[in-house]
Amino acid sequence: MSQQARVDIVTGVLGRNHRTVEFPKNNGKQELMSEVFGKNVFGTREMSDRLPKPVFKTFSSQLKGGQTLDKVTADAIAHAAKVWALERGATHFTHWFQPLNDSTAEKHDSFLTLKTTFSNGLPDVTALETFSGSELLQSEPDASSFPSGGMRTTFEARGYTVWDTKSPMFLQEGPHGTMVLYIPSVFISYNGEALDEKSVLLRSSSVISKVALEILHLIEPIEDDVPRTKEIFTTLGTEQEYFLIDRALYALRPDLKTCGRTLIGGLPARHQQLEDHYFGKIPTRVLAAMSEIELELAKLGVPIKTRHNEVAPCQFEAAPIFEEAMLAVDHNLLTMDIMHRVAHKYKLKCLFHEKPFKGVNGSGKHCNWSLSTDRGDNLLSPTSTPETNYRFLLFLVACLKGVYDHGDLLRAGVASASNDHRLGAQEAPPGIISAFLGSELNEVLNAIEEGRPVNKVLAGTETTHMRVTGTTLDLKVATLPKLNRDMTDRNRTSPFAFTGNKFEFRAVGSKQSPSFPVTILNSAIASALMEIRDDLKKQKGDKAVASDEDMLVVIRKYITLTKNIRYEGDNYSDEWVQEAAKRGLPNIVKSPEAFQRLLTPKNKEMFMRLGVFTEPELESRYHILSEKYTKEIHIEAQTLVGMLIEHVLPAAFSYRRELSESAAFMKQISAESAPEMKWLSQLAPICTGLQDAAESLESVLAEAQHIEESFAAADHACTKVSPVIEKARLLTDQLEKLCADKYWPLPKYHELFSTL
Ligand code: ADP
Ligand code: MG
Repeated sequence: MSQQARVDIVTGVLGRNHRTVEFPKNNGKQELMSEVFGKNVFGTREMSDRLPKPVFKTFSSQLKGGQTLDKVTADAIAHAAKVWALERGATHFTHWFQPLNDSTAEKHDSFLTLKTTFSNGLPDVTALETFSGSELLQSEPDASSFPSGGMRTTFEARGYTVWDTKSPMFLQEGPHGTMVLYIPSVFISYNGEALDEKSVLLRSSSVISKVALEILHLIEPIEDDVPRTKEIFTTLGTEQEYFLIDRALYALRPDLKTCGRTLIGGLPARHQQLEDHYFGKIPTRVLAAMSEIELELAKLGVPIKTRHNEVAPCQFEAAPIFEEAMLAVDHNLLTMDIMHRVAHKYKLKCLFHEKPFKGVNGSGKHCNWSLSTDRGDNLLSPTSTPETNYRFLLFLVACLKGVYDHGDLLRAGVASASNDHRLGAQEAPPGIISAFLGSELNEVLNAIEEGRPVNKVLAGTETTHMRVTGTTLDLKVATLPKLNRDMTDRNRTSPFAFTGNKFEFRAVGSKQSPSFPVTILNSAIASALMEIRDDLKKQKGDKAVASDEDMLVVIRKYITLTKNIRYEGDNYSDEWVQEAAKRGLPNIVKSPEAFQRLLTPKNKEMFMRLGVFTEPELESRYHILSEKYTKEIHIEAQTLVGMLIEHVLPAAFSYRRELSESAAFMKQISAESAPEMKWLSQLAPICTGLQDAAESLESVLAEAQHIEESFAAADHACTKVSPVIEKARLLTDQLEKLCADKYWPLPKYHELFSTL
């Protein structure tokens, strides 16, 4: 690979004709997104249309936890799903599950069955399509090739996938225009231990729903004509950040291909400093890919609402309309899958790594989280008078208490080798977990705690060009409408920020499944809600429901208890690091330490008391996460050694040779050879440094072979391997600047950033 190849690719990319897609048409008119939406989903409406009434009734009652699915109902649903799927070209079905590796897994089975009858003693084979209730409900993939974190030695290799009836089946395109029926499933071991992300998310959701409902029933007045809330669920909206780069250039970068991030590469002169990419004009090829992604996702019932450029060059974001958390997680995983696949069709590569490029912003997946009743009431909606909205305040202080008690666990939930590059790097929340409420709510809590009236923070002001009242902003330009002002401004530095009517957990990594962080969030807050429920019960005594005064007593108690978790300032500042230490808040900078927090007595006790994780399950998570961390860093180290030896050093050697030949020639003709000699002398120590780095990487990797224990191995990767990777990078980046471009073997940042 030489400069010529890089130039050829860049010119080739620029000359390419890009894909265009026909949007679905009906009578020659382009269909609306709302018409396409959910087309490939076997959802409730489709089921109620196609199933006999009693079958649908049994299924609905099963969904509400009323009964288990019997064989007759399962067979009827399977039959209806098969007919629906075959009508749409399906040939196969698959259980679709979420093993502990941040991605999804599937194993396709054909609908084809052979039925043999005998006539006159001779076999007569008929081929037909079948799909039974038991095939719908359960399948048995071999569990031994999925991460189990040590549970396998105790629990054998057998594993089962079981349909999660709350997630509807859907069709995805198979090869040659055929379709495959996907059955969202949980994945458990022979003894029922969770081998996946979904089982524990489901458990945490049901725990938080139950306790939240108990609290509502303690405080909701009982009125004859108003039915009581029957169900509460967590809502989730995941803002997904990602990078797109040209696939041809990507193919020339072994680091991006193997590790998802660049291990070498210096910043170009212009990157994000002009702040002109964020919300800028979306490049045409990217916009085309985005709209095809949205179309494909709409067919799957995934409601993507927002698309825009992000801060870094080539960085973008997609955000959906929020949904019930379990569905939102399925949908986020589908979103990443579809993005990846559609991007391919546009010769683009979608990078979900949290920090693909050094020196520009990395990517996160902000998890917007709230609780909603079956009537669509958002329990974290402050309304215009939060100070007397006791229901809101009870749930708000529960969130604070959950985060206060288990902040280290939340940190563990977002820890990974890749996210460590982002957390604490002045662009993403630091390793300290705190909560931001905004000045108005902060004042409400302070006033309640101090037993004084609330000072209106958002007091009105008026100047010649604007009038601000509590919640409106009048710009005094006749053609501009009055604005509704949010109760809080934003604090982009907070890891857990209240944003109007939900919390936004911003530390989550772009690459990871949102399932684990949300499971932790649900559990921590459920645990806090349990304490609040018990206090409320005591306070209420014999009364039918708790009085305002009862609620205030409890709210005040939790405001005082959780004061230390609230931080309104700049989370990136050194001042906060010191302040947090004074408050006793943990500052967990690196992942290996974060993983250990999964197993502290306090966190373990909480998970087990709630029934979200058993002890072996929790320990298995710990081992899986630690081992994954170690392996990822080792893969980076190995990749880097290869790049140094095969690409980078040979480029430097070629250039050195050219310089030395030039110097010799200059001497021959009695011309000045000092310029060549100067660069030669600069190149030599860099080359030696890189050779040393390659050798030390090989020796630390060899050393690592002998470390068995999960923490020791992760700690070794963190403290012994990673620093050498970083050191080598500094040298390669110097070399890239010094080496003649024609010898440089790898596409440079400016090329990667400028070919969309
Ligand atoms: P921003 O974060 O820029 O304020 P939005 O207000 O659009 O953007 O919200 C971002 C995400 O939060 C979206 O995915 C949105 O659907 C989601 N969201 C909004 N309300 C809720 C809620 N009550 N529960 C969970 N997610 C929500
Ligand atoms: Mg947001």
